[in-house]
Amino acid sequence: MSLVRDESGRLHIKTSLMAESLMDKGLLEGTETDRVFRPMPDLQVIKLGGQSIIDRGREVVLPLLDEIVAARSQHQLLIMTGGGTRSRHAYAIALDLGMPTGVLAKLGASISEQNALMISLLLAPHGGLKIGHDDVVKLPAYLALKAIPVMHAMPPYSLWELPAERGRIPPHRTDVGTFLTAEVVGARRCILVKDEPGLFTADPKKEPGARFLPEITLDDLLALDLEDLPVERAMLRAMVHARSVHDVLLVNGREPGSLTRALAGENPGTRIYRAAAAQAASVPPAAGPGD
Ligand code: ADP
Ligand code: MG
Repeated sequence: MSLVRDESGRLHIKTSLMAESLMDKGLLEGTETDRVFRPMPDLQVIKLGGQSIIDRGREVVLPLLDEIVAARSQHQLLIMTGGGTRSRHAYAIALDLGMPTGVLAKLGASISEQNALMISLLLAPHGGLKIGHDDVVKLPAYLALKAIPVMHAMPPYSLWELPAERGRIPPHRTDVGTFLTAEVVGARRCILVKDEPGLFTADPKKEPGARFLPEITLDDLLALDLEDLPVERAMLRAMVHARSVHDVLLVNGREPGSLTRALAGENPGTRIYRAAAAQAASVPPAAGPGD
């Protein structure tokens, strides 16, 4: 690429983005593409909920790990872990002490990492391998070695977490971290394992009469503006603009076989999907080098 000097004397590298503020709407539009490259289109990303699954202990966790071990010969898997009750305890103390959102996000990250440590060790006899965020690019090698990679799901906003719309709880927690991981590697599926059959019109623990919704478009869910949700609102917002992953499955980890069915392509719980993207999602991944 050649260098050019403008009238003001500034030196630029001659590219399509030369001398731009990168804020011009038309220019931003011009960076769009039909399909982004998907490095790992066969990967299935599974989050084990912190509060909803891991905190329930061996009775719930061990059968799920058995399903994961049984599935790994047929599927490429990345296991991610939530934080759960200990995150909530840390958040409560930090809130009481007047801490800003970024500090809470940092606390939450270390707790979801504690859970990744325990889950990876439980899977160790079968190739469980705790990985960090920088290791995502090494996933193909880990999978080729027959490892079962386990990563904490809190996204690395850390002290730089965006201030929340309401209150001080970090808006980007482990659901959105799981979704964004699936999105950047162009994963086939993003599965959130929790402790209810899926999405209801209200929290079924508080409102036993709540209606079950096995399938809902992202637009309809956002329009419903439910008072409470089993997934982070920031994950739904991320889904609106996602380029590769257009649906998320909510699966009941307390129902034996549900995770296995989800990995096989069924919807045993709730599917949240982007209607407009459904067709685009069915096209093959963008060609990479060598295709
Ligand atoms: P995780 O452990 O994966 O972070 P959470 O405990 O944060 O999961 O969220 C899942 C919980 O959300 C469910 O156990 C359920 O009690 C609650 N919940 C709140 N609103 C809803 C809803 N509308 N539909 C289903 N579950 C809901
Ligand atoms: Mg949660």
